[in-house]
Amino acid sequence: SGYHRVLEENRKLYNQVQDLKGSIRVYCRVRPFSPGQPNRSSNVAHIEEGNITIVVPSKYGKEGHKSFNFNKVFGPAATQEEVFADTQPLIRSVLDGYNVCIFAYGQTGSGKTYTMSGPKELTEEGLGVNYRALEIRNSSREGLNVPDANLVPVASTSDVMELMDIGHRNRAVGATALNDRSSRSHSCLTVHVQGKDLASGAVLRGCMHLVDLAGSERVNKSEVTGDRLKEAQHINKSLSALGDVIASLAQKNAHVPYRNSKLTQLLQDSLGGQAKTLMFVHISPEMDAIGETISTLKFAERVATVELGVAKKNK
Ligand code: ADP
Repeated sequence: SGYHRVLEENRKLYNQVQDLKGSIRVYCRVRPFSPGQPNRSSNVAHIEEGNITIVVPSKYGKEGHKSFNFNKVFGPAATQEEVFADTQPLIRSVLDGYNVCIFAYGQTGSGKTYTMSGPKELTEEGLGVNYRALEIRNSSREGLNVPDANLVPVASTSDVMELMDIGHRNRAVGATALNDRSSRSHSCLTVHVQGKDLASGAVLRGCMHLVDLAGSERVNKSEVTGDRLKEAQHINKSLSALGDVIASLAQKNAHVPYRNSKLTQLLQDSLGGQAKTLMFVHISPEMDAIGETISTLKFAERVATVELGVAKKNK
């Protein structure tokens, strides 16, 4: 319809302006209900290209509906291929010598790992952004850098997949009350890419961070104790450091507290305007999750307002 064409054109224009400004792009993804749980009530009222409307119960403020705008909203039916199609142009700019950072945010069980890597039983269609990004061919690939680990030279995508497999197995995953696949650690894959400008012969260097963050839920909910609690508090510390960095960037403060956590140190270039950055924000459609959904969307909205400098190509 004409209305939808106008919406779509507006969204394109908005994206182009954001590209120029170098803002952080935000894509929202709503996962489907888990199979075998029919007739559940959804906290999502309506989804459009770049807009999501959720149901707000009185317990969380003014009862009614609340809408959020993002660069793109993927509903429960969106396939991995569709999600990647909208991510690919950003990833391609690594080959032009830009630094790119893609990170996944959301509460445990909201679909972060699904977007970045895929489902547990990996199939061809299920391959997540990580794998698809690495399938993009370029003339020469220099190495793979896992922070706090080794720089490993790789020759092919399958080398990278093998390394990622090792990384996944090493990743701390523990059973909490929320989800037995609950991720209690951040996972970061960094790829350094070196290419050649075919016209000028100049060497182009780009780097790409692909980050699957630990669950953003508040600790008390998962009823963890002891070492788990300490670990959860540590994770919360790095996520709240990320929140502080986002807040001070949004307020254009002179001092941005990057140094408060390893995570923000790692993401400093990406958040500081030198890179093209995309945040996938994930929400669960379960009514039970409405509290987390509201705080996640509010955080994402704040991220979307952060204006960065114009991303620069590496020299
Ligand atoms: P997180 O990494 O945020 O803790 P997961 O990616 O492990 O969450 O997702 C939780 C569960 O939901 C998994 O079983 C996953 O396969 C499933 N899931 C998540 N997103 C989707 C999706 N878009 N389509 C189908 N299943 C999904």
